[in-house]
Amino acid sequence: MGLPHRKLTPGKLVIASHNLGKVAEIKALLAPYGVDPVSAATLGLPEPDETGTSFAANAELKARAAADLSGLRALADDSGLCVEALRGEPGIFSARWAGPDKDFRLAMRLVEEHLERAGPEAGRDAHFVCALSLCWPDGHIETFEGRVDGVLVWPPRGGRGFGYDPMFLPLGHEQTFGEMEPEAKHAMSHRAAAFRQLVAALF
Ligand code: IMP
Repeated sequence: MGLPHRKLTPGKLVIASHNLGKVAEIKALLAPYGVDPVSAATLGLPEPDETGTSFAANAELKARAAADLSGLRALADDSGLCVEALRGEPGIFSARWAGPDKDFRLAMRLVEEHLERAGPEAGRDAHFVCALSLCWPDGHIETFEGRVDGVLVWPPRGGRGFGYDPMFLPLGHEQTFGEMEPEAKHAMSHRAAAFRQLVAALF
């Protein structure tokens, strides 16, 4: 058995992300739990380089940097799209595939081009992964991981969500993450799966 989890008491919590889509989703997920979220951008915290080689390592370094600089508890998310036919790419480089302009139409087109090159037998299975790390100012850290499985559609469908959402059709559903109501995505996403574990452990 591991060490007992440290409980998350009410009070300020930094959301250590500069991605507005993620910040909005995390705020919505946290709403019922009595913590007071403040974004890293609002506090003017810099974005650390994501030098880790896994989602968990990157989530931990972002949470730790924000907790160190702010003196507050900080929650970071590192997430991405893993395509089976591309041996898990873009994976931890999901944001980078969108280039300096963060153009996800371009990123989705790149994924589609790689899939076409891999050929039809390679399949279109993919999953999103989310690692959530919560770091306290004394350095204590807790990390949780969630995933959601689906297939990639082309052309992209829907204008909701962010990132690769319009290409991602979760298994057993007829609407992509880009088409469905935000509440429906929040109920089944990789972020929600990681969140459920965090809530079970820390509240
Ligand atoms: P990072 O975690 O900030 O390195 O960026 C992860 C990238 O993965 C995001 O910029 C999105 O492109 C992609 N991503 C992560 N979660 C989602 C999601 O829920 N929907 C669509 N794209 C996502």
